[in-house]
Amino acid sequence: MRVNPDFVEDLREFGANKVTECFNCGNCTAICPLTTLNEERFPRRIIRFIQLGLVEKIKSSLEPWLCYYCGECSSTCPRQADPGETMMAIRRYLITAYDWTGFSRWLYRSKVNEIIAALVLFFLTLGIIYVLHGPIVTTHTELETFAPSHIVHPAGYIFGLILAIILLGNIYRMYRFTMRDVKAPFSLYIKELKSLAVHFLTQIRLRVCGQGSGIKPQWRNHILIMTGYTVAFILVQVDLFTKWSITNTPPPAWHPAKLFWTYSSVAILYGTTVAMVGRIKKNQPYHQYSHSTDWMFLILLWLTTFTGLLVRIFMELDWPIPTYYTFAVHLALVVPLLGLEVPFAKWSHLAYRPFAIYFENVRRRAMEGKA
Ligand code: SF4
Ligand code: SF4
Repeated sequence: MRVNPDFVEDLREFGANKVTECFNCGNCTAICPLTTLNEERFPRRIIRFIQLGLVEKIKSSLEPWLCYYCGECSSTCPRQADPGETMMAIRRYLITAYDWTGFSRWLYRSKVNEIIAALVLFFLTLGIIYVLHGPIVTTHTELETFAPSHIVHPAGYIFGLILAIILLGNIYRMYRFTMRDVKAPFSLYIKELKSLAVHFLTQIRLRVCGQGSGIKPQWRNHILIMTGYTVAFILVQVDLFTKWSITNTPPPAWHPAKLFWTYSSVAILYGTTVAMVGRIKKNQPYHQYSHSTDWMFLILLWLTTFTGLLVRIFMELDWPIPTYYTFAVHLALVVPLLGLEVPFAKWSHLAYRPFAIYFENVRRRAMEGKA
């Protein structure tokens, strides 16, 4: 087994600064509400692997994804070694390890790289809109004339397909790293698919994370953000058939798509604002440290949602120029938000966590002989 003696140092750029403080007492594992006596012994085991430089062991472990970062372990660690943040840092490291393009590693390496990537995608999108936009009608609002849906929709689907291919490739690498020694029949993967859906949609483990410890629970806020962008994603697909969004004749205010869009916008804006204020105040253990990628995700998501909401308001007011310009900026924010965050950074948690629970269930049932 190969050992990387510099791994503790390497992990600093992902936010793990106190790993060497840990003297392996095991208090964190004993107090963690998500560990089990038999199989899951995080965070202590992962911290030990880091200290020993056992990189392959870490890559083959699903445990980092089973932690939902309630911070109970960090607030009770006798050495203030911040095990919760170490688990977060190792998840950041794993995102780069799963990524077959290597781009994620480049992004996480420095905040300058991140800002450059976001700005390049932002201005590139604005440039494309400048070249391809339709006629600008100023007497009244004609969004579809300005942004023809026969261009916007196919471009969106091609972009989505590229992101899906990259993300699925990363998930496949996660599977190879973590499940290559597991002898599980295919039927078990099919049977356990329900756990993938349940944990993706409900994030139910987060609900018990930190419960009764005096730490403010994050579950409600996570669900608000998660349902917000799930609803937004569905509504963008629905627009292809109903033309409720990119249109020259906006539907009435009570149109279901508009009501859902309002929910989605308010939920994401509220959830991201609460998360950002928490990171500024640092009054919860899980907000003590913020990596630059955490901020980039929250800021891009907030700005994208806010500009999307503004577009709807300007359309209702029939202000053509503000509608077109804000829509252009909104699209120019959507591209770096999705292009960087979904396959390469923070948003990929949304896929890796439920897949980790899914793989873990398959592994456990295979070991129990329950095909
Ligand atoms: S992180 Fe803290 S609580 Fe956990 S094993 Fe190390 S010293 Fe003990
Ligand atoms: S942050 Fe919470 S869930 Fe994660 S290891 Fe610590 S106690 Fe467990």
